[in-house]
Amino acid sequence: MQKRYLFAPGPTQVPPEVLLAMASPMIHHRAPDFVELFEQVQADLQWLFQTTNDVLVLASSGTGGMEGSVANFLSPGDKAIVVNMGKFGERWGKICKSFGVVVDEITVEWGYAVDPKQIIDALKKNPDTKAVFIQASETSTGVANDTQAIADIIRPLADTILVVDAITALGVLDIRTDAWGIDVVVTGSQKALMLPPGLAFVSISEKAWALADKANNVFYYNFKKEAESQRKQQTAFTPAVSLIVGLKEALRMLKAEGLENIFLRHVRLANAMREGVKATGLSIFPKECPSNALTAIQAPDGIDGQKVYSRLRQSYGVTAAGGQDHLKGKIFRIAHMGYVDTFDVIMALSAVEMVLKDLGHPVLLGAGVGKAEELLRKPI
Ligand SMILES: *Cc1c(COP(=O)(O)O)cnc(C)c1O
Repeated sequence: MQKRYLFAPGPTQVPPEVLLAMASPMIHHRAPDFVELFEQVQADLQWLFQTTNDVLVLASSGTGGMEGSVANFLSPGDKAIVVNMGKFGERWGKICKSFGVVVDEITVEWGYAVDPKQIIDALKKNPDTKAVFIQASETSTGVANDTQAIADIIRPLADTILVVDAITALGVLDIRTDAWGIDVVVTGSQKALMLPPGLAFVSISEKAWALADKANNVFYYNFKKEAESQRKQQTAFTPAVSLIVGLKEALRMLKAEGLENIFLRHVRLANAMREGVKATGLSIFPKECPSNALTAIQAPDGIDGQKVYSRLRQSYGVTAAGGQDHLKGKIFRIAHMGYVDTFDVIMALSAVEMVLKDLGHPVLLGAGVGKAEELLRKPI
């Protein structure tokens, strides 16, 4: 027998309370039970998003929320600025282009965050930009952006919206939708929200709704039609009912912990992971601003990162993630977001040490684990 441990940057672990809730008998989405359920999750989502804006619940993975956030606010020929600092920033660009949006792409070397000054420069060059698209946390490199500084640049502009992919940020980092004036915030169910894949969430400001009046490219992910229904605690089409039942329980658990504690837990775990990795003699990949959602770890010289990733699973039942594109073989990634605590980090570090030793790399077994234990223990 081999137990399995899920430390991938999505899907992530799901608490037993949420799994049990999702096993309840099916309810009908046009019946009063659903209205009551949906009212509760809408209020709790606004709490999590730190907003009084509409937060739409969509039946899709995170990318469906991203696509809707392009198609509903922009028309063919409109201009957008896209920050590309990894795989998911590249995706913003691809979506925009597929809807005929004219893209000015800010390319950032993988491992770095975008310098907000680059956004100021791009806006000077293209004052008629309708939308700026960024990642709050770029999952392919493990780097977080200074979302607040970027929001400060765009908030005063009357005709430009900021669209943030917060798919590995919401519920990890303090993203203040209303206080910072972020127009559109997108997240998905299978990252920090402690649910299986299948739901996307999008919050939409007044400024963004004004753009939606002009753009109309979509049928299924039509935000205006969806919002009309959702303001009446209904969905335009059949919702992912069981996932929404699970969502209610996940949000109940998150609320019981409280936003501040959620952010602090991710700070503690991420810090212990990074320090543990360094104590093992390895380096983390981000050159600046590492995200608290996951750690991208540089494979040591002579060791194939893909081999570390596959040995983790084959030998020890640990699912992590490898690198993408030119980082394939160079890095491997371990998530610490959502339903995670002290021993998730300790187990992950332990497995990494053992695999590296198995692959012939000279590591002192226990060095990283010991460092994490030091940082995570709670003396009375
Ligand atoms: C996971 C993820 C996505 C969405 O991916 P899906 O597979 O469509 O859920 C988008 N952006 C980031 C930063 C992610 O981590």
